[in-house]
Amino acid sequence: MSATTMKAVAVTPGTPNSVHLQDIPKPQLDDIGGGMGVLVRVLKVGVDATDREINDALYGNAPPGDDYLVLGHESFGIVEAVGPNVTRVKPGDYVTATVRRPGGSIYDLIGTNDMTSEETYYERGINLLHGYLTEYFVEEEEYIVRVPQGLKHLHVLMEPMSCAAKAVHQAFEAQRRMRVWRPRLAYVLGSGQIGLLTTLILRLCGMQVYTIARGVPPHLKADIVEGFEAHYVSTQKLPLPALVAETGRPDLIVDATGNSQLAFEAMQYLGHNGVVVWTSITGGSRQIEIPSDRVNIEWVLGNKLLLGSVNANREHFELGIRDLALGEMMFPGVCEKILTNPVDGLGNYQEMMRLLVEDDSALKVFVNVAE
Ligand code: BGC
Ligand code: ZN
Repeated sequence: MSATTMKAVAVTPGTPNSVHLQDIPKPQLDDIGGGMGVLVRVLKVGVDATDREINDALYGNAPPGDDYLVLGHESFGIVEAVGPNVTRVKPGDYVTATVRRPGGSIYDLIGTNDMTSEETYYERGINLLHGYLTEYFVEEEEYIVRVPQGLKHLHVLMEPMSCAAKAVHQAFEAQRRMRVWRPRLAYVLGSGQIGLLTTLILRLCGMQVYTIARGVPPHLKADIVEGFEAHYVSTQKLPLPALVAETGRPDLIVDATGNSQLAFEAMQYLGHNGVVVWTSITGGSRQIEIPSDRVNIEWVLGNKLLLGSVNANREHFELGIRDLALGEMMFPGVCEKILTNPVDGLGNYQEMMRLLVEDDSALKVFVNVAE
């Protein structure tokens, strides 16, 4: 490696299982104009099901002109240098970065790139832009979010938390249609990182939360759910209809299962005036049969709402970071239990993928890029 290149973990989009190490140009502070650049030394990067789908060639595209895509959208690093016009962060600050960059729609123009109305979206590490699974990155100050010193032990959770924060925030925004909406009972489907972080957020809103997944406790995910003073329900022990019979129908359901069948099935259990939020990225081609007449009539008679939520803008990162801080006060030490599987160094990318693909107990895989 020369002084002007660095190592990155990349894939060849379109080619299954192409994850590899690649030399790429090292970014410079003045790659960003107007003195607004922030150069970040990468410390840790998390990977998730999206990275798995990208490596399976089900999802993701390389930047125009390149035949590779650098992976990694869950970033955590330390500011190394800033341009003369940067005011929000300084060298030595811990930071994360948002994922989506603006297109041309009005939503992009006001900083809500997560709401773009254009078909094409630009996401670092996912679609048309290189990611953070490398040694350094440079970004405009606008896309850099400071991480409080006191939360540095939660490092790569900032980005997944931002997506969970957006999903819940969107539900409340949409439910303004009710004039008064006081959700008391929520179901969270799935106990991966998004399910668990959503559980935390809803508990911090004071809701009674049932987090529902397949695995039968005792196991770590159930411990974490109970650490947030929510209820863990295994569908192998208590199928959803039986749970509904016990609790009544929920006001809010957040699906984070990664399974479109479960996302549709969830629609049968929602209470009147409620909202179902879908958060999973399902790159496959599954087809299912659903009791459509029944769902249709119940949705109409119950004024129910189905909402999709993707990505997160700066505001959601800030919301999520506040909730992580509050979560540490309310349920000390629980969040860090999510961070189960560190992998040391970019060179261990094979082990990173292996954990992601094969190890069902690996709740959160992340790479320790630097000290
Ligand atoms: C990322 C989001 C992104 C979404 C769709 C998720 O894994 O966390 O930032 O918008 O995938 O590409
Ligand atoms: Zn993700």
